[in-house]
Amino acid sequence: MKIHEYQAKELLKAHGVPVQQGRVAFSLNQVPEIVAALPGPEWVLKAQVHAGGRGKAGGIKLVRSESEAVDAARKMFGMRLVTPQTGAEGKIVRRILFTEAAKIKKELYAGLIADRGKNRLVFMISREGGVEIEKVAEEHPEKIITEPIDPGVGLQAFQCRRMAFALGLAHGLAKEGAALFRAMYDAFCANDCSLVEINPLIIDAEDHLLALDVKVNLDDNALYRHPDLAALRDLDEEDPLEVQASKYNLNYIRLDGNVGCMVNGAGLAMATMDLIKLAGAEPANFLDVGGGASVETVANGFRIILSDPKVQAILINIFGGIVRCDRVAKGVIEAAQSLNVQVPIVVRLAGTNAAEAGALLQESGLKFHVAEDLAGAAQCVVQVMAH
Ligand code: GDP
Ligand code: MN
Repeated sequence: MKIHEYQAKELLKAHGVPVQQGRVAFSLNQVPEIVAALPGPEWVLKAQVHAGGRGKAGGIKLVRSESEAVDAARKMFGMRLVTPQTGAEGKIVRRILFTEAAKIKKELYAGLIADRGKNRLVFMISREGGVEIEKVAEEHPEKIITEPIDPGVGLQAFQCRRMAFALGLAHGLAKEGAALFRAMYDAFCANDCSLVEINPLIIDAEDHLLALDVKVNLDDNALYRHPDLAALRDLDEEDPLEVQASKYNLNYIRLDGNVGCMVNGAGLAMATMDLIKLAGAEPANFLDVGGGASVETVANGFRIILSDPKVQAILINIFGGIVRCDRVAKGVIEAAQSLNVQVPIVVRLAGTNAAEAGALLQESGLKFHVAEDLAGAAQCVVQVMAH
């Protein structure tokens, strides 16, 4: 799960990471009070969306007075921020973080991630901060220093010092750096994060370290242990169809194509998407309706798929193992009737009671394209779309 910068900063601050004073505004009328409460004489407005690259897109603004702050906030609230990380449709700004403005002497980078290949947490640090770290990694991999953490003993003090020196921090700053890495690590573990990133980590005018921008991702699988963190979820930042699907307990991910897919089982869903691509079309979604797909889940699956205006055909691929195919067929017929589905539907049902299911589909009077096997289903869906 992603959270906002202002929320991430609170989590890191609680473990000792130095951050600027800041407050978040949800509406324009809060602005004067917030500016008055923060130390000046300059402030930074930061659009709070679940994406980076805001600086270049107009989502970061420096202001020098209360009236400038109100003007900038008026423009920023409701704006559609398009950055390389938002996709072309961008993200609407609904929250703005106000911070005291820091003076930057140097911009550094510090990140902590779970490296699945190494089965460890790994620090990634660089003297090249403030820019896209992916670019640095690509063009100058030698400028990124990694420090893997042995899970048996945890982060060691010598590693914190080694990283501080690698960033070129001297004297008092090296101490601050070592403490900062410790604080990042503590925050990561305490909150079951999957990513903690500070970019840029700056040396300010008074020669202190400051986390100017912070990104924290939380491990969804551990959220049940942190109801307080789960409450930070911002549904405005998520695809509305995916939010709706999660309410129905469907595993749904929206994609860019136009073939809607309804499949039971994640593996089969992946294989179905592969075959659709192989047949020359693009899947509109990944949808796993689960092993025990009932009439209700099928109907909900239909609702979600049909809410996507890009969908021009639907491919239903069900293997009747735990679930019986005739049950699914009933669900498909009921749902197709009640939802008045207009796009062609290709059905491939295999396994328990597949023959009964085929008969039901045929007797329904609705126009289904019944396919014998998976490859045939994928080819069929491409054909019906072409007509
Ligand atoms: P991002 O573009 O979404 O990653 O947003 P950041 O919070 O990293 O801000 C982008 C850039 O804006 C930073 O690299 C800084 O150069 C600048 N910036 C952000 N906050 C401040 C601040 O308090 N003072 C100054 N001088 N620059 C800032
Ligand atoms: Mn940044």
